[in-house]
Amino acid sequence: MTEHGHWVDVDTREVLDHFAVDPATGLRTSEAKRRLRRVGANQLAEGQHVSPLILLLNQFKDFMVLVLLAATLVSGLLGEYTDAIAIIAIVVINAVLGFVQEVKAERSLQVLKQLSAPTARVLRDGTWQRMPAAELVPGDVVGLESGDRIPADIRFLQVEGLYVEESALTGESLPVEKTAARLKRSDVPLGDRKNMGYMGTMVVRGTAKAVVIDTGMRTEMGRIAHLIQSTETVQTPLQRRLEQLGKVLIAVALLLTALVVVTGILHGHDAYKMFLSGVSLAVAAIPEGLPAIVTIALALGVQRMIRRRAIVRKLPSVETLGCATVICSDKTGTLTQNKMTVTRVWADRQLLEVTGSGYELDGAFLSNGREMRIDQSPALRRLLEIAVLCNNAALVKETERNGRLRRKQETWRIDGDPTEGALLVAGAKGGMKLERLERDWRRVKEFPFDSSRKMMSVIVERGGKRMLLAKGAPDVLIEKCTHIWHEGRIQPMTERLRVEALQMNERLASMALRNLAFAFREFHGTIASEKETTLERNLVFVGLAGMIDPPREEVREAILTCRKAGIKTVMITGDHQTTAVAIARQLGILQAGGLTVTGRDLYNMSESELKEKVHHIDVYARVSPEHKLRIVQALQANGHVVAMTGDGVNDAPAIKAADIGIAMGITGTDVSKEASALVLADDNFTTIAAAIEEGRSIYDNIRKFISYLLASNVGEILVMFIAMMAGMPLPLVPIQILWVNLVTDGLPALALGVDPPEENTMNRPPRNSRESIFARGVGWKILTRGLLIGLFTVGAFWMTYTETPDDLVRAQTIAFATLVMSQLVYVFDCRSNLTVFHRHPLENKPLVLAVISSVMLLIGVIYYAPLQPVFHTVALSLREWALVVAASAFPTLIAGLLDSLPIARRMVHG
Ligand code: ATP
Repeated sequence: MTEHGHWVDVDTREVLDHFAVDPATGLRTSEAKRRLRRVGANQLAEGQHVSPLILLLNQFKDFMVLVLLAATLVSGLLGEYTDAIAIIAIVVINAVLGFVQEVKAERSLQVLKQLSAPTARVLRDGTWQRMPAAELVPGDVVGLESGDRIPADIRFLQVEGLYVEESALTGESLPVEKTAARLKRSDVPLGDRKNMGYMGTMVVRGTAKAVVIDTGMRTEMGRIAHLIQSTETVQTPLQRRLEQLGKVLIAVALLLTALVVVTGILHGHDAYKMFLSGVSLAVAAIPEGLPAIVTIALALGVQRMIRRRAIVRKLPSVETLGCATVICSDKTGTLTQNKMTVTRVWADRQLLEVTGSGYELDGAFLSNGREMRIDQSPALRRLLEIAVLCNNAALVKETERNGRLRRKQETWRIDGDPTEGALLVAGAKGGMKLERLERDWRRVKEFPFDSSRKMMSVIVERGGKRMLLAKGAPDVLIEKCTHIWHEGRIQPMTERLRVEALQMNERLASMALRNLAFAFREFHGTIASEKETTLERNLVFVGLAGMIDPPREEVREAILTCRKAGIKTVMITGDHQTTAVAIARQLGILQAGGLTVTGRDLYNMSESELKEKVHHIDVYARVSPEHKLRIVQALQANGHVVAMTGDGVNDAPAIKAADIGIAMGITGTDVSKEASALVLADDNFTTIAAAIEEGRSIYDNIRKFISYLLASNVGEILVMFIAMMAGMPLPLVPIQILWVNLVTDGLPALALGVDPPEENTMNRPPRNSRESIFARGVGWKILTRGLLIGLFTVGAFWMTYTETPDDLVRAQTIAFATLVMSQLVYVFDCRSNLTVFHRHPLENKPLVLAVISSVMLLIGVIYYAPLQPVFHTVALSLREWALVVAASAFPTLIAGLLDSLPIARRMVHG
């Protein structure tokens, strides 16, 4: 069914009958399962996958590998069978290892994709539940609110101020107002089908209930899916830089190799042998495995982040995390627990205390310690009525059978916004019969809450009587009130009473309470307009409610950790300034000399003023989402790398503009998640700090294996280069060079990729995002260690050769063993950004295992007789091993000692 035309001009009843679904209970799970089997998952077909075979063949695509294979073929034809077979075997093993790495990297990226798959709110078996959007079937009843992506093609059953942005399908970027009513004609274009919603379009305002008409590739989006599918994989800045670096390295390696070959031939070496050595050297020296190892290190790091509840949506952000200098965090839910409890109510000028904790319904209203019931205070009754009726949350009873005694334990859970849940709990504590109240007062209309207008209202009706009930931020709502419930009567709002209400609001806020005001308006006769701007006026103020939202306990510590790591934390909240300041103090965000700025201040500030002040501002209060973008830009203009959290639709621009956009996994809207680079599975600030730590350590690890691989390559090239220049015989034969590349380079480098973070990871300032990979000592390490490894290997070779000039194979074995061993010692040096002496060598188990297995394999090719002719080795004596061990330990130890000198440290690290 690709033509939806015929759903447009029929009543919802008819649509529901066709799909055999009751809009009050939704489909039964068993029926939904049956339909899912029949029509398949609600997914757009994936783009083309690279087949594993292609991936495997790609491993041989490398030009130098092809040259090597050709050269080996020639040597095979010339009768050097063992050499040819051994070289081919190594090339194949290398390719298989590369293939395995790439498949692994690809898989982990796939897992990432699944983690950020969309979900939908669906009515099944009479209860609302969140499930993967892929499980939707035609006939499902879905709920939508602002910020949701529409999960399938749907027909609306009920809408409240619903606007949908359909540019993905129609190109029209202005949101379209939707309706549940049938249209007169069915032959209207897509953009005019006002009672239909389409997969992939976005709810920007309002709420809706709808029934699914079509899913998956049968949706309008499915029909054009092939047009928009892109298979681009995003590279991180580092990966891009490495790609460029790779080209330079290839050029340098080829040049040096050519030089080695030419000098070798000039010194009388056999041209053919020199050529083969040269090609092997080029293959070994070109770090072709680097990109795959980087991807694996990133992917493994990302998995560690997932374990710490941070879900990376955009791979480049892993690197940017390590550069973050400012975190701009929402207050509610991120810094606080989002577990609200009303503790104070102010009605008819009386301040009441509300007892009880959490969402438990035991509690009472106390006035000066004495219980106050709603029949004693009509204002309190009206306040609670508004609180309950101007409310979209639900209190759900959960009965758990506890232990063997089968004692029933009742707990209450909130379905919906915690702020509203807290109001329901307060209503219940006051003795309100929630269900009866909701049944008696029919809701006619809702003007939904939105963080820009900071209030909501509903129109309710009972027996011909109509009222508008409103709740919202006190400073906003009180403005709209012309009357006040005062001394049991409705009286005009005098300036004195207005000031009194605002002062009470301040007083509650200074107790770190989050406040709401309540107001209403009665209508007589018909309602002239349907617009909120005209209806939400001339209200009667009833009172205030203050609720606590305790800070998350662990956040204080995390903020301190960030400060030590040179990262400033800034609070951005829609809440009142006094409340924000009280909580910011408790959490240690507000520093001595730090500024607090409100949305209004921001409005009056010019860009340049903000840019100048932004350094000193710790708290932004009563801001609208639009302000967030300005804050990000002002910080960025000062050179900051900004992480910014957000959850609503209007937060998306700021999240996108931030260097690291962060969305909330639990309370965040689809739109904010899509705009983000990172999603917090638990909405918790601490997770941001954890992600930054992981981000830093991932980058460190990448630097570690780069310094390992490149220094090893410098060593390998230098051995051959120095020997050829000095007119010595060949210190290494081709197969040995390839072996070093395969066995010594790969595994230890991978193990460095999972190295545990250094202790000082969060005790140093953030990395400059423009910093080169070789900065802070890595370039120095590569050159010095590479040079020393080359020199000592040639030295050991030359000593042995001069002792036994007619036993070249022995000297070559020594050179081979020294080169391998010195890299295996050096690998421990790479673990620290200082020297080998700064970390415990046995801490990284995979590395220790990798080194042990590399040593065992080396011993194998030296002592196992059948392999000796293949690898051109002879058994070494203990004395010779002493030489090997000494020559391979020295480069790392000498360089480490020298680098430990304060002067050298200052020179390298600045
Ligand atoms: P943060 O931006 O840190 O998440 P916040 O949750 O207080 O803070 P908003 O959700 O934008 O920010 O709320 C702003 C103000 O709007 C609140 O301080 C409160 O007074 C009011 N408010 C919040 N929720 C509702 C609601 N459901 N109905 C009416 N008013 C609300």
